[in-house]
Amino acid sequence: MHTLIAITFRICFRFGLFVLAFPLLAHASLPQSSNVPGGVAIIPLGSVSTNADMPQTWFGDQPVLVTSDHELWYAMVGLPLDVTPGAHELRVKIGGVTKTQDFEVNTKNYPEQHITLGDTSKVELSAEDEARADRELGAITELKHHWRAAQDTDLAFILPVKGRLASRFGLRRYFNEEPRAPHAGIDIAVARGTPVRASARGQVLAVGDYFFNGKTIFIDHGNGLITMYCHLDRIKVKTGETVRKGQRIGLSGQTGRATGSHLHWSVILNGAMVDPELFILAKHRRR
Ligand SMILES: [Zn+2]
Repeated sequence: MHTLIAITFRICFRFGLFVLAFPLLAHASLPQSSNVPGGVAIIPLGSVSTNADMPQTWFGDQPVLVTSDHELWYAMVGLPLDVTPGAHELRVKIGGVTKTQDFEVNTKNYPEQHITLGDTSKVELSAEDEARADRELGAITELKHHWRAAQDTDLAFILPVKGRLASRFGLRRYFNEEPRAPHAGIDIAVARGTPVRASARGQVLAVGDYFFNGKTIFIDHGNGLITMYCHLDRIKVKTGETVRKGQRIGLSGQTGRATGSHLHWSVILNGAMVDPELFILAKHRRR
């Protein structure tokens, strides 16, 4: 069975035969709700008129984004790919009272993807590269958990580039048949030098040149929502700069570990890498 999936996937990957079905959105401005690892649980917290002050919420120790839509407060809980399916709880502070709210995480089995890299130095790392990659992982983990309180966060993202969706979120990856971390973003195939745009307004949290991700930009949209743009050829913004939605922030490329020119785009919510497709409004979606 696994072999069949793998073979099918190889064929799909090679020919770009992706058939995407997007369910309709329940809300105009909220991401699509998806209570699975790598998804976003949208939890209603009561009416805005009863509680004028925005409730505060936490998933574990991590603060969680709260927004309002049609006079209701909602918590947007980013669910990490390695979250255990089953019962979970959100801690909610509302009107001076702290309580817990239960929610369920369902199972999702993401498909496998097998990638062959000619440059084995990015699969079998030298001691030096291993040390570098570890250091960078620590720095990236810290950036992912960054929290900047903001009045309001734009949750309706635009795609940073238009192009073929070459690889979807959550794929269980094998590089030269070696199991590696799952694909925590989407890949959009575009030629080197294609302008990459900010998916929403925000502040540049960091820019860097990493062993795996290559030249990378992190944009902080406030309240724990962060986007990451990888494998860039050029970076056109500086840390601390404010960017508007749709602003050119860099040019696509294939720096770091990449089999060809593409944009890898990740969405991070309360420290969890979640499926970016959940944040794209139907009218902006492209194959
Ligand atoms: Zn990718």
